[in-house]
Amino acid sequence: MFSYLVCTICHEKKPVDAFHGRSRQTPTGLREYRSRQCKACEHAARNAYNHTEAGKQYLARQKLALETDPERRARYEAYQTSEAAQASRREYEKSDKGKARMERFLLSEKGEKYRTEKWRRHRVKRADLIEQSGDTLAPWQWRKILRAYRHACAYCASTYGPMEPDHVVPVTKGGANIKENIVPACHACNQKKGDETGWIPNPPSLVLKW
Ligand SMILES: [Zn+2]
Ligand SMILES: [Zn+2]
Repeated sequence: MFSYLVCTICHEKKPVDAFHGRSRQTPTGLREYRSRQCKACEHAARNAYNHTEAGKQYLARQKLALETDPERRARYEAYQTSEAAQASRREYEKSDKGKARMERFLLSEKGEKYRTEKWRRHRVKRADLIEQSGDTLAPWQWRKILRAYRHACAYCASTYGPMEPDHVVPVTKGGANIKENIVPACHACNQKKGDETGWIPNPPSLVLKW
């Protein structure tokens, strides 16, 4: 297997990942092959075509087919809700291109509305979750936890910046807002952790007695 290919459009040598993999039905079975044009060039060509008159008509036909052909619609929906499609969306959102697109959107008028609305929904949902799973953490308990950790992050031991109360079992995974589920985390770790599970906090440097 070659690990690099040269694009027939831009003539750049790129890793095979930069080329779409496709399969074609042949008399002897399904044949897998790599496109000879890199993804960037293929996408650019597709984009240019979509803006031509023929391209617009093609897109309109595709859209109509999707709306009128139930079988096609079902196939489309099955893919959209599949694990593969979700994984590829997540990957796109994390890519530079995806992030740039999100940024552009958030700066738009529509994005502004979406942002406030999403934030409000997020707060309401979070408050509901916390209420369901338990909410007894008192400010003095948080201060005691901070002292026991000597104001250091429970994950990376950094003392940079103010520590944030982190729910070891995330609130979205049923974690309660109780002293047993709270450790200090630096902003970076807290951001990185998000609602991932499986992060094991270090024990506090001082014995924590209640
Ligand atoms: Zn290319
Ligand atoms: Zn940290």
